[in-house]
Amino acid sequence: MQPEEFEFVSPPPFPDAPVPDAAALNALQAIEQEMQRSPVRLPEAAVSDFPAPMMTVMYSPHQLAADAARNAVAAALASQAAALPRGVKLDQLASSLRPVFVPRWYLKGEISADWMANGVEVSSREVACPECHGSGKQGMGVNQRDCSSCWGSGKEKQTTRKKHPASGNGRVALVESLANHEGMADLQLEAVHDVEPLLLPDEARMRLRCLRPASVYSSDALDAFKNRLAAMLEEQAKGSLNQYGRVDDFLFAPESVRSHAAVAAWLYPAYLGGCEVPGGQCHVLCDALTGKVGWTQAAAEDITTGAAAAGSRHLVTVMAGIAALAAAFGLWYGLSR
Ligand SMILES: [Zn+2]
Repeated sequence: MQPEEFEFVSPPPFPDAPVPDAAALNALQAIEQEMQRSPVRLPEAAVSDFPAPMMTVMYSPHQLAADAARNAVAAALASQAAALPRGVKLDQLASSLRPVFVPRWYLKGEISADWMANGVEVSSREVACPECHGSGKQGMGVNQRDCSSCWGSGKEKQTTRKKHPASGNGRVALVESLANHEGMADLQLEAVHDVEPLLLPDEARMRLRCLRPASVYSSDALDAFKNRLAAMLEEQAKGSLNQYGRVDDFLFAPESVRSHAAVAAWLYPAYLGGCEVPGGQCHVLCDALTGKVGWTQAAAEDITTGAAAAGSRHLVTVMAGIAALAAAFGLWYGLSR
């Protein structure tokens, strides 16, 4: 007799995630071709390095067209011209921009639970000092002196703590993302996640490249995220007990805890450019969702005189001007979710 075989299929971590339509797939192909045409500024890796099928890969389409990114970079850096190292040519930086995907972890989850706790009402009042019965004095005649218990005040502060059992139900939902690109720790993105990323189709996953990820496994990121969710729920619950001086014996009812947390590798759209400066490299990164521009510079003593830039790399994030942004928005791809 043949043992019955069961196939256990775990549900996808983002069952409702949108998938790219034909227009989005065409746009992705165009980005991919542009990536292949232009030189790589930082080490890249194959997206297929993320282990399939357990690691879901999602991406957000480049919303900013290349021309708009160049304008945003030119506008943002022009306002910083004085802070730029000698040798940086703005037009060269802007024209070196190429589309990239910056790997991040995309985390989405929620938790709900019943909780119970004791709110502690702390009250204090003044009573007559039990040592001197309120007189403030001890001893008789020439030996009389101030009561050592109440320092002569005749009064004592009495504190009482009264416990108030409390309970409730709370829910917290959270979406966040974490950097996962290797090196260039100071090259940061203030990633936005107002729109859920799209599931990357398998064919694109096999072809596409991204900046080299620091890790292709996410267990640490997911564990930390789950802890953060629980901590937020506890904080929310305790916030409803603000009227008490203290909260004791806080507890989640274990059988009531419902939680769900999922993680995906997220390819965040950006444009990266760079140029050589005396003593190192200068990189500029333009967020292809928001138009925000950040740059890093290798600052050596021979680049600038003065102490401000001595020996360290630094990041300056600047908002592109309103006018540049408006121009950029005008050139957005018309992409639907
Ligand atoms: Zn006393």
